[in-house]
Amino acid sequence: MLIRDCRQGRCLVARLDHGTDIIGQITDLAVEKGIKTGFLSVIGALSRAELGYYDQVSQKYGKIQIEEPVELVSCLGNISLRNGEPFVHAHAALSDRAGRLYGGHLNSGIVFAAELFMQELLGLNLERVPDSITGLNLWGEE
Ligand code: ZN
Repeated sequence: MLIRDCRQGRCLVARLDHGTDIIGQITDLAVEKGIKTGFLSVIGALSRAELGYYDQVSQKYGKIQIEEPVELVSCLGNISLRNGEPFVHAHAALSDRAGRLYGGHLNSGIVFAAELFMQELLGLNLERVPDSITGLNLWGEE
């Protein structure tokens, strides 16, 4: 287990722009504000989205395309560094008009309306590095 102590930095709230990619917009905000590590949550609605599912045997991501408007019931994620740049890792639960849920790794999504909360974390140099066991880019030793 890799454990790090950290402390809270700035808190931000943002209303994301309609018609833009949610991951791109959060990444741009982190870059603009100089946030290298943090925690985030978002609620709102997306006009379409792409989720990912990581197949642990083949160690490849499958894609799930959601081509309809959905509620962004819950989106939780974090920001850490990948190749020295802020990288957003987010998972989402999305619901359709019948209340059915889709869930997974959030690759992308077009914002209809979305409210973001971001908590900066300080005292960390959290860089993603390739992990040979999982095939994922995980937080590495400092
Ligand atoms: Zn993920």
